[in-house]
Amino acid sequence: MLAAQANEDPLTGLPNRRRLDDELDRLLALARRYGRPLSVALVDIDHFKRVNDELGHQVGDRALIEVVTRLSALLRQGDLLGRWGGEEFLLLAPYAKHDAALDLAERCREGIARTPFPGVGHLTVSFGVATLTGDDDARSILRRADLALYTAKREGRDRVVGMPGLTDAGELDSSPERNGR
Ligand code: GH3
Ligand code: MG
Ligand code: MG
Repeated sequence: MLAAQANEDPLTGLPNRRRLDDELDRLLALARRYGRPLSVALVDIDHFKRVNDELGHQVGDRALIEVVTRLSALLRQGDLLGRWGGEEFLLLAPYAKHDAALDLAERCREGIARTPFPGVGHLTVSFGVATLTGDDDARSILRRADLALYTAKREGRDRVVGMPGLTDAGELDSSPERNGR
C-alpha cells in the first residue's frame, strides 16, 4: 500500500511523475528491443488558473478530476495517463505511430472541449505529441513533446501539435504539425 501511494497522485489517483518516469523508461526499452512505435503526449489544461481564481480551488480540483475521467474513458488498453504536475498530464501510447497518436490526442481534445463542465463551463486542453525516433531517450522525446505543447499554446490553445521526429525519408524533422495535417 505504501508502495502504491509512492507512485500515485492523491487527487486524481493517476500514476504520478515518478511512476511515469519509470514507465517511460520501460516502454522506451521495449519499443527499442522489438522495433515498436511509441508516442507520448503532454496534455495541459488551458487557462486553468482562471478556474481557480474565479471559482475557487475546490471547484478547480473537481474539474481536474473530471478532465481525468473524460481522458481516461477515451484511451485504449495499454495507454497510460499520469499526472505530470499541476494541470499537466503525460500520456504514454505504446504501439502508436505518430498519426495514430495525433488522432488519439484529437479525440481527447474533442472529449474535453465539446461538453461543458458542471459548475465551470467549457474547458479546453492543448496537446504536444512526439514519437520515438532511433536515437531518442526519455529526455529528448519529452523535450519534443514539450516544444509541441508550447507551440499549441502559442498558436491559440485547444489544439493538437505534433513533433514527428523523423521525416518519411528518415531524416530528423523538427517542424511542428498542426491539426488538419
Ligand atoms: P495555460 O493555458 O498557459 O496553460 O494557462 P494556465 O492558467 O492553465 O497555466 P498556469 O501555469 O498559469 O496556471 C496553472 C494553474 O493550475 C495554476 C494552479 O493554481 C492550477 N493548478 C495546478 N494544480 C492544481 C490542483 O491540484 N488543483 C487546483 N484546483 N488547481 C491546480
Ligand atoms: Mg495550463
Ligand atoms: Mg501548465
